[in-house]
Amino acid sequence: MTYILVINAGSSSIKYQLIDMDNEEVKAKGLVERIGIEGAQLTHTTTGKDKIIVKKAMADHGVAMQEVIKALTDEELGAVKSMDEIQAVGHRVLHGGEKFTQPSLVDENVLDGIREYIELGPLHNPANIKGIETCMALMPGIPNVAVFDTAFHQTMPDYAYLYGIPYDAYKDHKIRKYGFHGTSHRYITMQIEKKLGRKDLRIITCHLGNGSSLAAVKDGKCIDTTMGLTPLEGLIMGTRSGDIDPTAVTYIMKKYDMTAEEVVSFLNKKSGVLGISGVSSDFRDLEAAANEGNEKAQLALNMFIYRIKKYIGAFAAALGGVDVIAFAGGIGENDGYIRSECLKGLDFLNVSIDDEANKGRGELDITGADSKVKVLVIPTNEELMIARETKALAL
Ligand code: AMP
Repeated sequence: MTYILVINAGSSSIKYQLIDMDNEEVKAKGLVERIGIEGAQLTHTTTGKDKIIVKKAMADHGVAMQEVIKALTDEELGAVKSMDEIQAVGHRVLHGGEKFTQPSLVDENVLDGIREYIELGPLHNPANIKGIETCMALMPGIPNVAVFDTAFHQTMPDYAYLYGIPYDAYKDHKIRKYGFHGTSHRYITMQIEKKLGRKDLRIITCHLGNGSSLAAVKDGKCIDTTMGLTPLEGLIMGTRSGDIDPTAVTYIMKKYDMTAEEVVSFLNKKSGVLGISGVSSDFRDLEAAANEGNEKAQLALNMFIYRIKKYIGAFAAALGGVDVIAFAGGIGENDGYIRSECLKGLDFLNVSIDDEANKGRGELDITGADSKVKVLVIPTNEELMIARETKALAL
């Protein structure tokens, strides 16, 4: 067996999976929540065994990681006898700026690089660093690999990633579009290439979940994406506004007497379909409300759908045509209504879907009988992608 531990450390959480790379099966997974906050809890499941739940104060990521190790090595409900059975650790890292165009085997230089981008990922990069440092301390001698959410998008051309602001802002302060969800967009792209047996494809990948983004992929390389300097740009999301006139931002600050931090929080946490509907950021709740006649819930859905459709058109133009449109993420994988609405009226792109196939679950080919564009549902698997990258670099 070849065990790889995948860590996704957030500001107060650690999500993890232990994957056996001999068969790419999940051996164990878990989540530590509320690290450093009252009510901390670890939930661990080794495949085929009962859950372990630990409720106790966990002051920091180090303490939380010790609990993860305890759970993984638990004599009865754990997955391994000792941590020595784990050959490498793969870490999800939010922001790799322009430095990291590929996953990287962690050393002091790489850690310094991740630190350099704390300003651009102030919530995530410090937590990602903590996750890596904790593993280095608690699992000495086991290699760590950093897999960046931004890396896949580093192939965008300058005319796509630059903002129309003075060039010095880019040169001096790295202000540009980076894009996120790169690990997911890359995974979806690779699955499509495998499925269709070719790489010379123009693909639009639609990752639709709590956070949502589209990527335009030509011959396996990203040429544009909807998210920007931060994950706020682009589509209307669960709680994020997506694209907005920058002057509206300063106007909101004046009208609501907000500071810069407050307006950023307003746009990130109180906006999107939640802000429009006043109902929920969860599409199951929104659709239930819309079905009961809640007009604002329906409006929020219409706005979400319209923005996706608009970007599909834009990316089809950027790609010079489109061969494949693929859906992934909690919404993309489960919500046939959203998939169908996003592609309605795109006959001019020769896209149509099969309504019966669209009712299915899991990986689907929902291409319509007369559609020239393949339409696929590809359940994303960022953890597996991170484990694959980690195996390739560390073993
Ligand atoms: P993710 O961030 O990819 O985990 O996606 C989470 C989101 O997916 C949730 O907030 C829901 O809005 C959405 N979701 C999950 N399951 C369903 C479903 N069966 N139907 C519609 N939306 C869903």
